[in-house]
Amino acid sequence: MNFLGRSLLAVTNRSAVRKLITGTRPGRALSTRFVAGETLEQAIAVAQEMNAKGATVSLDHLGEHVTDRAQAEAARDDYLACLDAIGANGINGNISVKLSQLGMGFDDELAGASLDALAARAADVGTTVSVDMEESAVTDVTIDLYAAAQRNHGNLGLAVQAYLHRTRHDLDTIMPLGGHIRLCKGAYAEPSEIAYQSRDEVNEAFDRLTHLLMSDDGVKPAIASHDTDRLDVTAALVPNRFGPYEYQMLYGVRPGLQAKMLGAGDPLRIYVPYGVAWYPYLTRRMAERPANIAFFLRAALSRS
Ligand SMILES: Cc1cc2nc3c(=O)[nH]c(=O)nc-3n(C[C@H](O)[C@H](O)[C@H](O)COP(=O)(O)OP(=O)(O)OC[C@H]3O[C@@H](n4cnc5c(N)ncnc54)[C@H](O)[C@@H]3O)c2cc1C
Repeated sequence: MNFLGRSLLAVTNRSAVRKLITGTRPGRALSTRFVAGETLEQAIAVAQEMNAKGATVSLDHLGEHVTDRAQAEAARDDYLACLDAIGANGINGNISVKLSQLGMGFDDELAGASLDALAARAADVGTTVSVDMEESAVTDVTIDLYAAAQRNHGNLGLAVQAYLHRTRHDLDTIMPLGGHIRLCKGAYAEPSEIAYQSRDEVNEAFDRLTHLLMSDDGVKPAIASHDTDRLDVTAALVPNRFGPYEYQMLYGVRPGLQAKMLGAGDPLRIYVPYGVAWYPYLTRRMAERPANIAFFLRAALSRS
């Protein structure tokens, strides 16, 4: 993440800014560009719309870093309800979960048990569970909890971040477990000791890891990016690939590119976030593209 992105994350973490964005109409309008809505029904409606366009989906019930058992159990139950709705509505999609939302950090055992419960319910409705990768402080425990659940159920996948130096090594543990592996650049502000900082270095790492994942038919690579140069690297490898693969993009980001890829018949999954806890998700989207905050400021100023 560049300097501007880091500064934006620092600013948006301040409570006054949070209030400005969550408590005003332009702030909420910005959220609707990237978030399906606050309810499961709204998420299912967007999922149906995406399915009709030919995309699969991954539904993310927004929330992270819960601090007590009741919140963690409520998050698990929200995801169970989401899986039931996927089954009941015939949605072609799965769920994406953040383990910190299930209690990782204060009760790893609870988070692991909840991930097990989600994988079991996903199997009942014929789908899978993707585990998001969060900040570097929790990389080890995320991989451990994912590996345990994947060994038990076999219907999970994990996100990995190209910007972390350690990711190539982590894949030696993760790839033999099969599953779908989502390769993304990484969305958190990480220090230079552990993460590539420049765009070129991150892109080079992303391309190296794309080659590695696409050369293994035992895993399903999910190339998660809106960067056309990165997507071209994958496209060049597709003719030599026998196993499954897919592209993944975020709801509301580069919709024109999404439509073009679907028109060309590319396998594309749209990550569809929903729920009331949309603020941290939105701030990461703003930090990736400061033009998004300019959009918000213009809308806010035009009200006065
Ligand atoms: C499906 C999916 C799942 C993800 N899961 C995780 C995860 O588990 N953990 C994690 O750390 N990160 C995750 N990310 C975020 C990822 O790490 C990047 O921060 C994000 O995708 C931006 O990187 P990029 O590859 O699109 O390339 P960039 O170089 O950032 O962007 C390429 C182009 O895409 C457009 N673009 C990118 N982002 C935006 C935006 N927010 N608004 C408008 N336009 C934009 C711009 O035109 C930009 O020039 C995920 C991303 C995707 C697509």
